[in-house]
Amino acid sequence: MIADHGFLITRVGIGYDSHRFAPPGPLILGGVSIPSDVRLHGHSDGDAIAHAVTDAILGAAGAGDIGEMFSDKDPANKGKNSIEMLAAAVARVRDKGWRVQQVDVTVVTEQPKIAPHREAMCERLGSTLRIDTGAISIKGKTNEGMGWIGRGEGLACIAVATIVSANA
Ligand SMILES: [Zn+2]
Repeated sequence: MIADHGFLITRVGIGYDSHRFAPPGPLILGGVSIPSDVRLHGHSDGDAIAHAVTDAILGAAGAGDIGEMFSDKDPANKGKNSIEMLAAAVARVRDKGWRVQQVDVTVVTEQPKIAPHREAMCERLGSTLRIDTGAISIKGKTNEGMGWIGRGEGLACIAVATIVSANA
C-alpha cells in the first residue's frame, strides 16, 4: 500500500528504447502496423514506443523493468505482441496501488513519419493504459541526419509517464 496520508501522490518515470531496422516489414510502432520495407528487429515485435512506455510506467512505480518482466532469453516472448507486455505492466503497476495518469513520447527517427499514425497510436496506447487519448502525446523528431539514427539504421524512443495513487 501507498502511505499517502489522504494526499494525491504523483510519481514520474522515464523509459528509453531503441531497435535496429531489418527487412521485411511491416513496422510495428505504438501498437500500429505501418506499411514498410523494414521492421524493428527484436526478440518481440520490436515496438519501441510500447517498450519505452512500459519502462516509464514501471519506473514510476519502482516496479522493475521490461527486461526483467519479459526476458529475451525466454522463447515464450519470441515475436510477442508488445501491447500485451504493456498491458501486463499496467496490471503490475495497478497491483502496487497506482494508475497511469499521462504519457509523453518522443520518437527519434528519419523514417517513418510519425504524424500520419499518431492518432491510431494514441488510441491503441490509451485503451491499453486506460486513459484518454488526450492524456497521451507522441511526437516525431528526426536526428538531422546525424549518427546511426541519421543513417537510418534504426530508431529510438524516449517516454515519460506520470502515475497517481489509485485511491486518490
Ligand atoms: Zn524494445
